[in-house]
Amino acid sequence: MQKFEVTILGCSSATPTSKRNPSAQLINIADRYFLVDCGEGTQMQLRRYKIKFQRIGHIFISHMHGDHYYGLMGLLSSMHLLGRSADLHLYGPPVLKEIIDMQYKHSETRLHYNLIFHPLQQDSADLIFEDEKVTVHTIILNHRIPCTGFLFREKDKPRKISREKITEFKIPYSELNNIKLGGDYVTKDGLTIPNERITGGPMPLFSYAYCSDTCYDEKVIEQVKQVDLLYHEATFMDDMEGRAKETFHSTTKQAALVAVRAKVKKLMIGHYSARYSDLQPMLEEAQSVFSNTVLALEGEKYNIEALN
Ligand SMILES: [Zn+2]
Ligand SMILES: [Zn+2]
Repeated sequence: MQKFEVTILGCSSATPTSKRNPSAQLINIADRYFLVDCGEGTQMQLRRYKIKFQRIGHIFISHMHGDHYYGLMGLLSSMHLLGRSADLHLYGPPVLKEIIDMQYKHSETRLHYNLIFHPLQQDSADLIFEDEKVTVHTIILNHRIPCTGFLFREKDKPRKISREKITEFKIPYSELNNIKLGGDYVTKDGLTIPNERITGGPMPLFSYAYCSDTCYDEKVIEQVKQVDLLYHEATFMDDMEGRAKETFHSTTKQAALVAVRAKVKKLMIGHYSARYSDLQPMLEEAQSVFSNTVLALEGEKYNIEALN
């Protein structure tokens, strides 16, 4: 079974609280580790939840507010001090490179590994990563400063063959790979057995959209249509809509409205203001608009396939 899991490392907005860390999520798709945002304390959270951080190959930073990247220098440095040699790809606003270079210049640090920086365009939704299993696109958000979300999609994945089918059609081991990739099986007698009869057809491909930070914006809806899981920030409750608008953030009901209009399967809200210690009212408010809503909670691992 190909993994597609989202682990929440931080879900607080602006400042850490004694119970919540600022934004960071680890996304594991087919054993590729993607870190999305890296608020202060992210490396401690990775340790707390026993995630091997040297396995992270790609880090995506949404924007230059500190609650989304103040943990980055610490994490990059620990990777260096602990002997990392594998390349690390970092994606973020162009100015992020300047900040990192400046810090390493003054500490006279030369990293043991290659840090490969990919500046993100702030005005177009682009394909920024692709391999044989996964694609990642940016999502243009509407925040006080340029901000991009990230859309993760599975690509073609191997089809399933049950033991019963292998026995029924007497399929030799050497043929299994070809069938998993969609090929038909031709028996020794030249009889063709269509792939669908053996595997049941292509596997469903799942998607995950990360949208933080943003005010309510119709343009976001277009970009996250029908994803399996949408993470949308909900910094405030509905009674603070005015404050949300002023600060380019969203309310619980606005996040839920995006979910309704984009026809997503499931919504996860997060990026909670420190003023809310009890999150249950936020959940209930979002669920009053879109019932299939869950809270982002630190340490929780959400399996996208199981959510469907
Ligand atoms: Zn934020
Ligand atoms: Zn922000």
